[in-house]
Amino acid sequence: MSEPFFWWTEDQLKISEKVREFVDKNLEEAEYYFWKKKFPWPLVKKVAKEGFFGTGIPKEYDGLELGATGSAIVAEQLGRLYSVGHVFTVSMLAGLEQILRYATEEQKRLWLPKLAKGEELGAVCITEPFAGSDAANVFTSAKKEGDEWIINGKKRYITGAGVSDRYFIYAKTSDDPAIRKQYGHITSFIVEKGTPGFTLEQINPLIGLDNVPNGYLDFDHVRIPDKNRIGAVGKGWNVMMAGLNFERLIGSAVFGGMFEDTIKLLFHFTQRRVQFNRTTNQFPGVQAGIAEIISKYKVARTFSYYCTKLLDEGKEPMIEASIAKLMSTEFGRDCALKAIQILGGDGLTRFLPTERFLRDAKIGEIVAGTTEIQKMIIYRFSAMLPRYNSSIRFRWDEEVNAPLISMKDSKFKGLELNEENILKIIAHDYKINPGLYMTPDDVREDIGGGSRSTIRKIFEILESQKSIVCHRDRQGKIVLVKATYEGLQKAFPKEHYQWFPEWYDDSDKF
Ligand SMILES: Cc1cc2nc3c(=O)[nH]c(=O)nc-3n(C[C@H](O)[C@H](O)[C@H](O)COP(=O)(O)OP(=O)(O)OC[C@H]3O[C@@H](n4cnc5c(N)ncnc54)[C@H](O)[C@@H]3O)c2cc1C
Repeated sequence: MSEPFFWWTEDQLKISEKVREFVDKNLEEAEYYFWKKKFPWPLVKKVAKEGFFGTGIPKEYDGLELGATGSAIVAEQLGRLYSVGHVFTVSMLAGLEQILRYATEEQKRLWLPKLAKGEELGAVCITEPFAGSDAANVFTSAKKEGDEWIINGKKRYITGAGVSDRYFIYAKTSDDPAIRKQYGHITSFIVEKGTPGFTLEQINPLIGLDNVPNGYLDFDHVRIPDKNRIGAVGKGWNVMMAGLNFERLIGSAVFGGMFEDTIKLLFHFTQRRVQFNRTTNQFPGVQAGIAEIISKYKVARTFSYYCTKLLDEGKEPMIEASIAKLMSTEFGRDCALKAIQILGGDGLTRFLPTERFLRDAKIGEIVAGTTEIQKMIIYRFSAMLPRYNSSIRFRWDEEVNAPLISMKDSKFKGLELNEENILKIIAHDYKINPGLYMTPDDVREDIGGGSRSTIRKIFEILESQKSIVCHRDRQGKIVLVKATYEGLQKAFPKEHYQWFPEWYDDSDKF
């Protein structure tokens, strides 16, 4: 069993034990396919026979109903079977969450039991030659004709291209700029292998994922029935977003097993390698390196399982799932490099699994939203949360003669809303935050409320008098204000702004 968490259910503990035994038994076979560069069909069939593909699928659709946590437990172990982990993950991503949340009951009954059986593999098709991180910019189009949709376009970088039977695609169903602005121009569909006009264009030679095909797909007047549409027309963006947290977490989980095997390898190897008449594990740098790898592994793993628990409880851990994906892949790349350094030249050969861990972790930093995109999500979504993003108020305390972080009212509260008082507030802020501007709301809060449009008009007057400078957004709206040197002089005598530490000699002041 992999190291369990106290919140795992009995069934999740059981599957953890079962999948670990399965993986241990099949490690050698996975290595065989890796070396032969063969798609591991026989192993994938064994995974299917064990029922692992159904881990996250509800029982009523022939699954095991073990949630995102169960799926992550399975992905983590299957990741130790190299390509098998990625095949499992991608197949889960090719519609599981999307179908669960957006399909009709009839569609669920049709697709979910197939997914659970794992007899057919799935691929997820978002990326196109001109649509990478900007996933909404799809050119592939779907046009309705009677009861059918006609798909034209291309997809690229598709994991499992060719070997998969089920392709979960996103296509443009509107060119109206207003609809596009609302992200209402995309619809999702399932296209099955063998549909006329649907062909494989290219297989990519990649840095990693050695025996998993990744390629380009071509859709040339591909006709599919309307029943293959998942979710309402124009709701494709929502369908895509619905699966993203799951995708990031299960994608992170796949690296967990590789981490654990790397740690094991490092202990094994460094207790047996002798240099300068000592085993290398006695060198402090080696011990520190292994300790760092263990620390990063445990932090990333614990946080990822915390996120799957949130997902299983019906929450949408958008920020957290991005952090988990970011940590697992960045830590993975970092730790793989460190492991290679500890192993020396042996770490660079293909005979040890560290070099492939490095190559795959690098891929991890690009797929399913690059590191930069994860950081963008973390920043943007955090900026919406008042607990992180709200104004910090400082009050000048005369007794201690310093600015104190304070929840008390400003000394300007209740003053009349006029030019003189607004300038005083803005100028006084120079004493507290000399290099910062104030937002209109900071000013309004200091004076204790009042009409925003009146305050804006006062800003404009003060600006025309050259008492303040206004910073405007692209639409011309005032978003920040600051007193000019002239404004500072008008508001208070210069002594108001002076401050010297007690030890500073009066004779040195001028
Ligand atoms: C091995 C592999 C497997 C894949 N599997 C699949 C799959 O199964 N299905 C699928 O649909 N796709 C798949 N992809 C595609 C993958 O999701 C994209 O490669 C990824 O989203 C990045 O898009 P891009 O490669 O076009 O890079 P680009 O979007 O062109 O990005 C190039 C660089 O610009 C940066 N960048 C872009 N936009 C911003 C921004 N707004 N702010 C800051 N930086 C930015 C990126 O972070 C990156 O560093 C796979 C890719 C690989 C390599």
